Amino acid sequence: YDDRDGWIWWDGRMVPWRDAKLHVLSHGLHYASAVFEGERAYAGHIFKLRAHTERLINSGRLLGFEIPWTADQIDAACKETLARNGLTDAYVRPIAWRGPEEMGVAAKATKIHMAIAVWEWGAYFGVEQRMKGVKLALAEWRRPDPRTAPTASKAAGLYMIGTLAKHAAMDQGCDDALMLDWKGDVAESTGANIFFAIEGELHTPTPVCFLDGITRRTVMALARRRQIKVVERTIAPEEMRRASEVFLAGTAAEVTPVRQIGDLTFTPGQITETLMKDYDALVRMTPEEVEKRAA
Ligand code: PMP
Repeated sequence: YDDRDGWIWWDGRMVPWRDAKLHVLSHGLHYASAVFEGERAYAGHIFKLRAHTERLINSGRLLGFEIPWTADQIDAACKETLARNGLTDAYVRPIAWRGPEEMGVAAKATKIHMAIAVWEWGAYFGVEQRMKGVKLALAEWRRPDPRTAPTASKAAGLYMIGTLAKHAAMDQGCDDALMLDWKGDVAESTGANIFFAIEGELHTPTPVCFLDGITRRTVMALARRRQIKVVERTIAPEEMRRASEVFLAGTAAEVTPVRQIGDLTFTPGQITETLMKDYDALVRMTPEEVEKRAA
């Protein structure tokens, strides 16, 4: 991803894409003191931009640092980066990290840096997979206890087990992994939240040790608008066989049907199709229309 044309916002300046390099002694690289966001722009508007910006600021606070930009400045910088790259439908990746001003576990003297990159990113699992439904492998890695890691932060370090779990799933011919939590209950995939349709209701794990995703909350509101009952609760893996439909929800993955988890198979049906369509329509509305719908 380093060798392409374009502009990256970096600490308040626009830097040519190929020149956006940082020092190898950056604290974020050695000790994972970095937090990021994943946003999508549709038809020129970044969907739920303020919610992403607020989560970014909060993710930093959970790692003990303050991003030196206000929410308004970050929103404006995201929009400016999108426009400068001439994109209307794209993925937006802001990241903030501790710099190379101090080496060692202690990092109080480091400066907080921020960059924003945007690029075109079509269907997360590819168009064909998305329509057919994806195959998930049960991961050996578990989401940590919230007393073990700052699990409500979109912190780079938490993706270490995600990459391990995803690679193991791909080696088994699957698209992604389903991770359980430290107690053995269903948690999420490596980059999206999970939903189960059980007897006409929508069930999803309570986000005790993973992100309460912005897409997750959006999908829950869309389901309620359709008079579908939504239940947040602890879900044991044995219960997954009761589900008639399963789908993932995340900014990158959007609403993606799941066809298989381990040796269980599912058929995407009416609930998934309805919510895919409703989500696709909502993200293409203007921010004002989205706001009005939520009110
Ligand atoms: N869980 C993980 C591990 C993720 O990376 C993401 C994507 N940010 C999500 C859940 C879904 O969050 P959101 O809907 O806010 O993108």
